[in-house]
Amino acid sequence: MKFFANSLSRLHDLPLDFPENELRVKSIVSYLDKEGLFIEWVEHFPEVFEWIGKVHSSSYMERFKSSCLRGDYIFDSYDNPIVGGSFKAAVASVATSLSAANATLGGDCTFAVTRPPGHHALSDRAMGFCFFSNASIVARFLQSKGFTKVAIVDFDVHHGNGTQEIFYSDPSVFFVSIHQYPFYPGTGSREERGWGEGEGYTLNIPLPAYSGDKEYIAAFEEEVIPELLSFAPSAVVVSAGFDAWKNDPLGGMELSENAFFRFGVTFMELLKNLEGIPFVGLLEGGYDTDMLGKLVFNFVRPLL
Ligand SMILES: [Zn+2]
Repeated sequence: MKFFANSLSRLHDLPLDFPENELRVKSIVSYLDKEGLFIEWVEHFPEVFEWIGKVHSSSYMERFKSSCLRGDYIFDSYDNPIVGGSFKAAVASVATSLSAANATLGGDCTFAVTRPPGHHALSDRAMGFCFFSNASIVARFLQSKGFTKVAIVDFDVHHGNGTQEIFYSDPSVFFVSIHQYPFYPGTGSREERGWGEGEGYTLNIPLPAYSGDKEYIAAFEEEVIPELLSFAPSAVVVSAGFDAWKNDPLGGMELSENAFFRFGVTFMELLKNLEGIPFVGLLEGGYDTDMLGKLVFNFVRPLL
C-alpha cells in the first residue's frame, strides 16, 4: 500500500478552532510516520485542471479562484471559509487524489490524505468544507484508463451528496453511502436510488444517530458487499471519513476505533474476491485530531 499527502494543504490555512484544519493532516502523517510508513508528498499532477474539468465547470473553477484572490472570507456557503491559498490547496488535494489513483495502475492499493475533502462538493457549488470532488475526479480518471465500472463507497458520517449528484444518472459509477440520517446535508434517504439510466446505481444506507459497530458491520455485510459483488466494479474508490468515530466533535455515531479496522478487513476481502482491482482510499471527514491518525491507520492496516 502506498500513501500520498498534499504538501500544499497548509495553504488552506483555516483557524484551529474551525474543525477542518491542518491539524488533521498532522495527526495522520505523524501516526503513519510513527508506524514507519512512507508518505509521498504531492504538489502537482499533469493536466490537473483538465481532470477537474471532467467533473466541474471552468466557470466554477474561475469563480473559486477569483474569490480566493479577492480575499473573500467565505465561498458559496458559510461552512466554506477560505483564505488566499485555498484554491491552490484544493487543486493540490485533487493532484494528491490523482497521484494515488495513478499509483494503483501499477497494482498497488493507495490511500491519499486529501485536505480539503471533497464529497459534499457539487459540480458547480462548494459545500460542507469541500471544493472539488476528489472521488468523482478519480473515478473519471480510472475510467479513462480502462477501468470502466467504478464503485465509490462512502462511510463518512455525512451523506456524500456531491458524489451522488455528479453520478446520479450515470450507470457506470455505483455510489454507496452509509451515513447518519437525518443529518447534514439533509440528503441520503433510501428512496434516492439514481435517475434515468442511473436508476439503481446509487445506494443510500441511512442509519439513525448513535448507531455503532454492530449496525455498520451489518450494513457492510448484508448490503454493501453483496451489492458491490453484483455490480462487479473494475475499480473501487473509498470516501473514507472518520467522523462516525464515537468521540468525533461533529458526528453523532458510536463507532469504536476497531470498527475502522473491520472496514479495512471487509475491503481486503472484497479485493481478494475481485482479484486485486485498483483500490484508492481518499480522506473525507474526521475531526478528532487526537485520534484521527490512529483511526486512519486502523483502516489501512488490513490492506498493508
Ligand atoms: Zn463528514
